[in-house]
Amino acid sequence: MIQAIIPDPKIERLRALINGTNDIVITCHMSPDGDAMGSTLGLCHVLQRLAKNVRVVVPDMIPKSLFFLPGMRDVYIYTKHEARAREAIAGAKLIFCLDFNTLARIDRLAEPIRLSRAKRVLIDHHLDPDDDFDLAISMPEASSTCELVFRMLMQMHMLNMVDRRAATCLYTGLMTDTGNFTYSTENPEVFEIAAALARRHIDTKAIYNMALNTFSADCLRLQGYAIAEKMQVFAEQHAALITLTQDELKRFNYHRGDTEGLVNKPLSIPGVNWVMFLREDAEYIKVSCRSVGDFAVSDICERYFNGGGHTNAAGGDFRGTMDEAVGIFYSIIADCDDESELPAGEAQGEELPAADFEFTIE
Ligand code: 5GP
Ligand code: MN
Repeated sequence: MIQAIIPDPKIERLRALINGTNDIVITCHMSPDGDAMGSTLGLCHVLQRLAKNVRVVVPDMIPKSLFFLPGMRDVYIYTKHEARAREAIAGAKLIFCLDFNTLARIDRLAEPIRLSRAKRVLIDHHLDPDDDFDLAISMPEASSTCELVFRMLMQMHMLNMVDRRAATCLYTGLMTDTGNFTYSTENPEVFEIAAALARRHIDTKAIYNMALNTFSADCLRLQGYAIAEKMQVFAEQHAALITLTQDELKRFNYHRGDTEGLVNKPLSIPGVNWVMFLREDAEYIKVSCRSVGDFAVSDICERYFNGGGHTNAAGGDFRGTMDEAVGIFYSIIADCDDESELPAGEAQGEELPAADFEFTIE
């Protein structure tokens, strides 16, 4: 049984906003990922079935691994279709902001959205949303924005509008934001939602292969190099660091998306509880962090890297040299030493408690 967790007054307000509007824009954060594209396109399909005039507008390029999503061809990418995107935003009466918590996360798209007189609805699962929105459905406990879109449609009694296309999109975000259902799945309802979507005859195997399991030879070689040559493990501090410079990226013919998932890899080492990955992009150093347990990498990204995110997955950027960024990493692990704030706890190396049940094979 999937519980109705979004407060009823918010659902009623949303229903009124949707009923009273024809022209709608849906947007998401820059460098859109599976959850950003899955939630925007999933909601778009449902609203189109309600005969609304809907347009998905995203800040910048979408990774190739998501091109399979139904409706992708009609998306306006701001860096490519600026005039059409601005026109759609100017004509919108309602703007859905999905999978981000602050307009700073949508880059140059923030300006036309700020100027628009449309009502703004936030649906998101990041911590600490801004108060730039007329209605905010912000639930950091949700696995993904796709989960929240599903719950919202369920509570509005609109699941009958979720067809195979919409289900493919929503399932994709649920799957990518949980690492193929391996984390952020503390709430078993995540699996019930996945099952409800799978019942729409979607091809879950093809979705997995396209979104999470397709890599070029260059990409695999880059990831192999990063782990073999560039990963440092700090066993006492339960930490790991990976850095990649522009020269190294060029050597492997880097394309956007090629380092996706790399930051998670060191977490599979027993005892490593948090990881920082520093990638030297053209304009800044992109920072990605992951952790297990209570160690909030979102705090680190907020404090040092102009960023934020979730407790266990966060990011930001650093405008300085790689050496300076690495220096910050060292100061963080030194601080952990001083203050005995070692992110221990759910260490993967700790002994597991004995199972309180037995497996039987029949
Ligand atoms: P990733 O490491 O995969 O780029 O991002 C993981 C999570 O960190 C994202 O879901 C997002 O919540 C957050 N994040 C990544 N980059 C940024 C950033 O530049 N600013 C903020 N505020 N959050 C970020
Ligand atoms: Mn998300």
